Amino acid sequence: MSFTLHGLAVSSGIAIGQAHLISQATLEVSHLVIAQRMVEKEVARFETALARVRNEFGVIRNGLGKAPTDIGAFIDLHLLILSDPELSEVPKHIIRERRCNAEWAIVQQMELLVAQFEKIEDTYLRERSYDVRQVVERVVRELVGRPGHATAKAAKGVKGENLIVVAHDLSPSDVMAFKDQNFASFVTDVGGSTSHTAILARGMAIPAVLGLHNARQLIRDKETLIVDGTRGVVIVNPDARILEEYELKKCQIEIERSKLKLLKTTRSTTLDRVKIDLLANIEEPSDVTVALESGAEGVGLFRTEFIFLGRGDMPSEDEQFEAYRKVVKGMQGRPVTIRTFDLGNDKNIHSDDAIGERKRDNPALGLRSIRLSLAEPKTFQSQLRAILRVSKLGKVKILIPMLSHAHQIDQTLAALEQAKSSLRGEKISFDENIEIGGMIEVPAAALAVGIFLRRMNFLSIGTNDLIQYTLAIDRSDEQVSYLYDPLHPAVLMLLAHVISTAEKVNIPVSMCGELAGDPKLTRLLLGMGLRQFSMHPAQIPAVKQKVKQSDISEVIPIVRRILRLEESAKIQEQIERLNA
Ligand code: PEP
Ligand code: MG
Repeated sequence: MSFTLHGLAVSSGIAIGQAHLISQATLEVSHLVIAQRMVEKEVARFETALARVRNEFGVIRNGLGKAPTDIGAFIDLHLLILSDPELSEVPKHIIRERRCNAEWAIVQQMELLVAQFEKIEDTYLRERSYDVRQVVERVVRELVGRPGHATAKAAKGVKGENLIVVAHDLSPSDVMAFKDQNFASFVTDVGGSTSHTAILARGMAIPAVLGLHNARQLIRDKETLIVDGTRGVVIVNPDARILEEYELKKCQIEIERSKLKLLKTTRSTTLDRVKIDLLANIEEPSDVTVALESGAEGVGLFRTEFIFLGRGDMPSEDEQFEAYRKVVKGMQGRPVTIRTFDLGNDKNIHSDDAIGERKRDNPALGLRSIRLSLAEPKTFQSQLRAILRVSKLGKVKILIPMLSHAHQIDQTLAALEQAKSSLRGEKISFDENIEIGGMIEVPAAALAVGIFLRRMNFLSIGTNDLIQYTLAIDRSDEQVSYLYDPLHPAVLMLLAHVISTAEKVNIPVSMCGELAGDPKLTRLLLGMGLRQFSMHPAQIPAVKQKVKQSDISEVIPIVRRILRLEESAKIQEQIERLNA
């Protein structure tokens, strides 16, 4: 049966492929596609894990003697569940047929069984689903404790080009883990349009639709899907006519994109000859290739935390140096702005929690980003030292996220001084004049921008968080995403204030939030005085085209009028006219 689901259009383009379902539980175990030649080894790993758990249950059971006890009955039941072919045999078929790793295979089968149990009316029988879960969890623990050969390495090179991931939710670290597998697209039930998950989809230039509410329940594995990331639509089991129509649309989009690519080597200058810097936002060293291909003039935002998400421990100074070195060398003399770790909230080194601490109710308002760096001076020093060490290899700048208070800036500058003097003590050279900038992503920072201008060399506006905090809208929550309005007059007032105040004192301002990569807003931002835009490489050609078609002297008076408007709808209308 064909049906259509509507959600948030977070990453444009069209993907056509097969549904590849991922459940919440599977996200807690690794979900890898096994190379064909490793499949039988994976089956053997599964069998070994089952045997070990069976043996462990047997030892406990024997220790209890023959007398009937509750615990004895419980173990007997778990042994029975473990021996049931539904759990002992079917996962092996899943491993063989779908080439899943063992953990993933058994968790998928568990979900199916649990769903069947949950339909049973009898309460006693229904509650046996808990026992199934417990048994599976025990097997998964055994597998996870002995990961064997089913590592990400084994999955590398496996192509997911015609697979569309369908999940209830995906964290940024889940998406980073998928990066190697080249999935065609992903769709989720939850998530907002400027969540880091959405940002990663745009960075990978794959179509994505989030906030579909119950796609994970309605879509079945291997069903054919069309994902229209431009309209926020997912069509399940489309008929031949619709498929043909979308194949055609997909081709047209590809043709448009390749036409834009021709702009790669042209200058990004407006019609009235104002030079506009178009820079790339990157998440890991390998992104340098696409940045250069898109014609980026440098890296305006290197989100360093992404390289180390979910890995469980903090990277050493040398590991960081190596990652930063690859980017600086790769950019061949172009400027590279390295942002210090923006960890916490949805981006964690430990996949299950923030730096091993307990979860807080409001992580976006908690110990994240620079607050966390200042609270962990050792980690912060190792990052600052690693950045300073690469600064002699190219044109490197340091960017600090989430600053809001003058004393935080002072503390940060003192930490930088400390890192510099320790390197001097060790006779390690670095750029003594390295520039340090602050991100403007908290309304307090935008309003009191003077405290930044007096202390820092440059500013970079992070509109994703700035909008989230100005409008009190969680950027990852699809339930309130309709209120996430970049054109809210309060947002525009803050942007205009920061850009014009910095201009008066000659401090460069760039923008690295998602707004900078939206060609519909390029003229508005040019009219406000913005001259440096940093965005996902895939967006650079479209923004460059807009820059080349704009005359700043014509745009300025219109933007001034727009900034006096108080209704988002009217602002929207005027921006459409500005782009006409
Ligand atoms: C921002 O907040 O706009 C920004 C660029 O930082 P991030 O998206 O990584 O929070
Ligand atoms: Mg931010």
